Amino acid sequence: MTSCKANRRHRINMTARYNFSAGPSMLPKEVLEQIHREVLDYNSTGSSILELGHRTQAFSDLRDECKERIRSLLNVPDNYDVIFCHGGGRMQFAMTPLNLLGAASKASYIVTGTWSDMAKLEAEKFVHVDVPFRSRGERTPRIEELEVPEDSAYLYHCDNETIHGVEFSAAPVSDAWKNVPLAADFSSSFMSRPIEVSSYGLIWAAAQKNFGIPGLTIAIIRRDLEKLAGMNMPYLLNYDSYVRNDSVANTPPIFQIYVSTLMARWIERKGGVEAMDEAARERSRMIYELIDENPKLYSSVVDPGSRSRMNVVFRLPSSEMDAFFVREAAAFGLDNLAGHHSIGGIRASLYNAMPVEGAEKLAEFMKEFALRHRL
Ligand SMILES: *Cc1c(COP(=O)(O)O)cnc(C)c1O
Repeated sequence: MTSCKANRRHRINMTARYNFSAGPSMLPKEVLEQIHREVLDYNSTGSSILELGHRTQAFSDLRDECKERIRSLLNVPDNYDVIFCHGGGRMQFAMTPLNLLGAASKASYIVTGTWSDMAKLEAEKFVHVDVPFRSRGERTPRIEELEVPEDSAYLYHCDNETIHGVEFSAAPVSDAWKNVPLAADFSSSFMSRPIEVSSYGLIWAAAQKNFGIPGLTIAIIRRDLEKLAGMNMPYLLNYDSYVRNDSVANTPPIFQIYVSTLMARWIERKGGVEAMDEAARERSRMIYELIDENPKLYSSVVDPGSRSRMNVVFRLPSSEMDAFFVREAAAFGLDNLAGHHSIGGIRASLYNAMPVEGAEKLAEFMKEFALRHRL
């Protein structure tokens, strides 16, 4: 292990640039190269992928391939549908209550950071919201802390809080609320590890973090929850419209589905979501190690048991030093390390496409930065 690590150190590429943006984020080079070719000639048809019609066999094949690869990568059980929606993650904040409420008069929201808080605020426009747990980006709840009313339409959580760097290590399931379906925002952790899909009623993810580009949201929905919205629901806000039309409710985001198909193929070639998880753990471990070893310079408020593998969030002793760190890192080829504007600090987003070498280069920079500042 040590020698392998030492060997790696020699491979640090001084000129390579790495994009640590929280989203839209890095795509693998092979994927970008294929897109580059197929913008001019898709699948040797002589036409651009950008001109592909949604009523063509070629698009149906692409959609089916994307769906099937998602099903197989995540082992999606037969009683779930995989659908492709518009509107990004934010539209799901409304679609979740609009579709899952049925006749219920309340829904429960676990709030662990900005994204689940925004989802809760949106839901409050439609229903009474009960909050069994709230933290301001420090940790996820322990199951024993939660009390979920049995008559809640669903229990919502955000699997990975992209802004605060707080991630669930398991679905918040309990026998005490086994009849309350779980609904989860997986936008920034989708396809980065296996998911026990059968624990959930609804999973959705905006594609632009681990699995593609903005404009596509993948939803995985249990069949018995698809028709709760009813006929008066606006057509494009009703999951059933996407289910009934096999994700061609209207002109779908064809190019986005194409990019996610390439991502699914790439993830498969790399060994599937288990391999994504292993790499994610390795990348994030290197950065957390540096934070823990240099407590006077780097600090994180996230409880170690809730640390995100995707977004490593920390800060330096002052906002001036944060800004200096970000500038120096960029000069070293490490881009977009500034934290979200709402909380400041530093955020290193380490999604599927980030090579382990990128995290290594950041760790090397952090170590050297600490030495230089004698902290
Ligand atoms: C990015 C993100 C969203 C919002 O996605 P949009 O496509 O910008 O609407 C929602 N939830 C989480 C966890 C995210 O990371």
